[in-house]
Amino acid sequence: MSHGRARTFEGKARTFKSEQELRRQRQDIQTQRERLRTILRRIRNAYLSLKCPGCKNTFTSKGNHCLKVLRCGHSLCKVCVPVYTVKCTCFCPVDNVETIVERKLATNKQVAAILERLELLFSNRKYIP
Ligand SMILES: [Zn+2]
Ligand SMILES: [Zn+2]
Repeated sequence: MSHGRARTFEGKARTFKSEQELRRQRQDIQTQRERLRTILRRIRNAYLSLKCPGCKNTFTSKGNHCLKVLRCGHSLCKVCVPVYTVKCTCFCPVDNVETIVERKLATNKQVAAILERLELLFSNRKYIP
């Protein structure tokens, strides 16, 4: 009889311990989730802050807002280049440095490749923090 009782008590203790364990695990998962959300938010903010100084739109990997490199190192989106160009000279809206636009300005392909990945990542609602 007393043996059975002891077993019951032991069993309860074990149950209590595993509940504590479960609670701790849940807490850990919650903490990890918060950390991931913070990291994603920071990446997304960095991505969205990559804006054209002309129209303030976030640059895109392709299309009207893909980034064109100016001589000074700043970039304008494709649609803003003609807006800031007088005759064949594009005036950077950040520092007013002139870029001669003889042919089409080059797209920064490496940045466009990163933008494409970020667009893909944040087009998935699951990853919007
Ligand atoms: Zn623009
Ligand atoms: Zn500039």
